[in-house]
Amino acid sequence: NNFEVRQILEELGIEDVNNGASTGGRWFNTRGEKITSYSPVDGAVIATVDSATEADYEALVLKAQEAFNEWRTWPAPKRGEVVRQLAEKIREYKTALGTLVSYEMGKSLQEGLGEVQEMIDICDFAVGLSRQLYGLTMHSERPGHRMYEQYHPLGVVGIISAFNFPVAVWNWNTALAWVCGDVTIWKPSEKTPITAIACQQITKQVFDANNVPEGVSSLIIGDASIGKLIAEDGRIPLVSATGSTRMGKSVGAAVGARLGKSLLELGGNNAIIITPSADLKMVIPGAVFGAVGTCGQRCTSTRRLIIHEEIYDKVKDALVKAYGQLKIGNPLDQNNHVGPLIDTDAVNAYLKALEQAKAEGGNILVEGGVLSGEGYETGLYVKPAIVEAQNHFKIVQHETFAPILYLIKYKGGVENAIALQNGVPQGLSSAIMTTNLKEAEMFLSNGGSDCGIANVNIGTSGAEIGGAFGGEKETGGGRESGSDAWKIYMRRQTNTINYSDSLPLAQGIKFEL
Ligand code: NAD
Repeated sequence: NNFEVRQILEELGIEDVNNGASTGGRWFNTRGEKITSYSPVDGAVIATVDSATEADYEALVLKAQEAFNEWRTWPAPKRGEVVRQLAEKIREYKTALGTLVSYEMGKSLQEGLGEVQEMIDICDFAVGLSRQLYGLTMHSERPGHRMYEQYHPLGVVGIISAFNFPVAVWNWNTALAWVCGDVTIWKPSEKTPITAIACQQITKQVFDANNVPEGVSSLIIGDASIGKLIAEDGRIPLVSATGSTRMGKSVGAAVGARLGKSLLELGGNNAIIITPSADLKMVIPGAVFGAVGTCGQRCTSTRRLIIHEEIYDKVKDALVKAYGQLKIGNPLDQNNHVGPLIDTDAVNAYLKALEQAKAEGGNILVEGGVLSGEGYETGLYVKPAIVEAQNHFKIVQHETFAPILYLIKYKGGVENAIALQNGVPQGLSSAIMTTNLKEAEMFLSNGGSDCGIANVNIGTSGAEIGGAFGGEKETGGGRESGSDAWKIYMRRQTNTINYSDSLPLAQGIKFEL
């Protein structure tokens, strides 16, 4: 693997890059603490990066501000053309980048490639958007007046991202921010710095060819302390932060204290409701992929199944059987379904959660545990577990970022299942499996799921870029990607123009001198 990855790094032009900050045009000679990226796949060192210091951060922000002054004057479709070329470039590098994502993060190769495909898709979306940054016109109440609203570029956008989607989340934000005329500073997860460097290098090729000002796309590698600088910095009008709810509370408070805007994409605790009329052919693959895909490390991973008592045993048996067929191992090997967790902290959190579930009265249906032996030397490969539990258990209320699936039984009507589904602090993704129209509509109604994503007859995991993505409650309330999510990246302005010869005031107020 490591040999193959050397070739990939070379292909991506990053075999020598070990500096932790770049404004696009150049890499800074950073002198911060060293961050070594180990692959969870086989424990090998991918590369070591010198993280950035506060001084590097300062230089980066100044350059970004300078770049913004020019970039905002480029016509939006021209900015879109640059993003179109970026999508083309990413297509060229899809296999190399997807493989690197899989190797550095540990998700399956298919999912690594899928993540890169998401980058391409959001770029394509943004190209069209660059000609559709529409405002509205209104009729003025005053004669000889015209009113309209328009959207202007906002400024420097800070992006703080999580390890589990190491490249797509950056592009979800940047593709929109750039066509909107903003410049971006990205602080990726310290667990996945190499894929971030790869993105920056790919972008640099396209930006250089188009004379995009240095500082439109900046990268800064460091730990939470760099994230905190971004959150507290009044020069950054929007901070888009993806990660744990704990991080979001800290970032949201810091940005709020300076009355900046934040776009928070935080933890989920996603459930599928399975009603008596559900088609089990779809339920089992949907639930199993949702629970074990990316080794349970997706914000939209399925954590809870809320199953009607009538079909509970049938679903349970089918799930146990399906789990028996799961192949766990190297995610670059397409025969495996489940790869490793990201690091030993994640393994410990997984083991602790299983202990706690037992202590609270949970019944372990499919035993978990850490695998050892050939191919499992990193100690990061774990067995996906299933636990019969109650929704109110403390551990069930909490997002454990690992493949643990809780089965919860419900009785009576679908409203009881919806109450359980909503009865957690998070509100990201939700789903119902039913062939009953009334149940489906109830689930989607104003009294239904309280999540940002509510699906019928598909699982909770994954989303298309065309819709706005995000969730409510402790998930943070942010929306990014498709639909009108672009609006947060711009400042909105209402304009009234008087083309008459008098100066009437609004609301008919008379003021005579
Ligand atoms: P994390 O919160 O540990 O780290 C995320 C990022 O925030 C990292 O870059 C980290 O350095 C930075 N950070 C941490 N504390 C900070 C602070 N106080 N101030 C500023 N920056 C800080 O999360 P993780 O372990 O990398 O990712 C897993 C979490 O992310 C899960 O909870 C998952 O649900 C969530 N997630 C959510 C979405 C979504 O769209 N809702 C998407 C992906 C991941």
